[in-house]
Amino acid sequence: MANVADTKLYDILGVSPTATENELKKAYRKLAKEYHPDKNPNAGDKFKEISFAYEVLTNPEKKELYDRYGEQGLREGGGGGGGMDDIFSHIFGGGLFGFMGGQGRSRNGGRRRGEDMVHPLKVSLEDLYNGKTTKLQLSKNVLCSTCNGQGGKTGAVQKCTACRGRGMRIMIRQLAPGMVQQMQSVCTDCNGEGEVISEKDRCKKCEGKKVVKEVKILEVHVDKGMKHGQKITFGGEADQAPGVDPGDIVLVLQEKEHETFKRDGSDLHMTHKIGLVEALCGFQFTLKHLDGRQIVVKYPAGKVIEPGSIRVIRGEGMPQYRNPFEKGDMYIKFDVEFPDNNWISPEKLSELEDLLPSRAKAPVISGDAEEVDLQDFDVSQGSSGGHRREAYNDSSDEESGHHGPGVQCAHQ
Ligand SMILES: [Zn+2]
Ligand SMILES: [Zn+2]
Repeated sequence: MANVADTKLYDILGVSPTATENELKKAYRKLAKEYHPDKNPNAGDKFKEISFAYEVLTNPEKKELYDRYGEQGLREGGGGGGGMDDIFSHIFGGGLFGFMGGQGRSRNGGRRRGEDMVHPLKVSLEDLYNGKTTKLQLSKNVLCSTCNGQGGKTGAVQKCTACRGRGMRIMIRQLAPGMVQQMQSVCTDCNGEGEVISEKDRCKKCEGKKVVKEVKILEVHVDKGMKHGQKITFGGEADQAPGVDPGDIVLVLQEKEHETFKRDGSDLHMTHKIGLVEALCGFQFTLKHLDGRQIVVKYPAGKVIEPGSIRVIRGEGMPQYRNPFEKGDMYIKFDVEFPDNNWISPEKLSELEDLLPSRAKAPVISGDAEEVDLQDFDVSQGSSGGHRREAYNDSSDEESGHHGPGVQCAHQ
């Protein structure tokens, strides 16, 4: 009495699940003779199947796994070695991790999921502030409507006989008794498709390809407050293929740089230039916000803006995603421009000095002191890295090879 989970391997050898080891051996010898690639080059993978079935069913451990759990038992029992995935898919059908040739054919009804199509979508900061609906045109494969994705009339599609529908052919060469070499190559009869359609039955619209290109317009809603890198997904809108569940179209937002604002989460940051007079005596300026509003920014006389300092306008940042009435803040950093040299006559300067807060008291110089020159320095040229031009007697610097910008190396 045989109560087995699956009989496929027994069927391959043409024996019943109750067969004794002797019967298995007999069946194997007979079939192996008949289908050996040397004798029967057109037998496809039959020999491989037979060998695999025999190998499993004569190994007590593997046989038990197979009898109890069928294919799954063998897979999980790790009963394999190199090339196992391949023969597995061949015998049991692709699906779990088997080889899938061509365009996702599936033999056991388990549908494969197609790949997602990922596209970047450039958006401005204005779009992310205000929200935007945009139409995106893309070209994708859809199942041919003329042949319903079959490639031809019903029945016109024939499994490729050369590769038995696998799309790949496996050649087995015996190198020595008990030692075979397997070589896998794309089937030339069907170009790896696993099936052939005769010229006359081929669908005229898709030329047997089963799919046609179609231009698809997607309406994309960019919501207020969405962020750089955020994904907008259109489920099942990716390329269609027969027997495949189409993947998603995924748009990934790419925030373009803005000339005024930098975004940090829901906050906006900007830099504004003011002059010395504004920094000391108050100011007012207008600013165009991302929704086009003119914002008047006022700062009262008598309040001082220090160079590089930051002030904040609450509630004028970015709207929050899915909660757009809540907004972040706007931070303004102030660059203070000082006047150029000689902007004022010496007489006026002393008047100004009288107006400005009084100086710190000059320090008392006691003992010896040396007066030095304070020169102009251009930050963009960098410091000389500690070198002084005339200090060439310092040999350690030459060895280390470090020379600051603007210092010429005499040895090169
Ligand atoms: Zn083929
Ligand atoms: Zn067609």
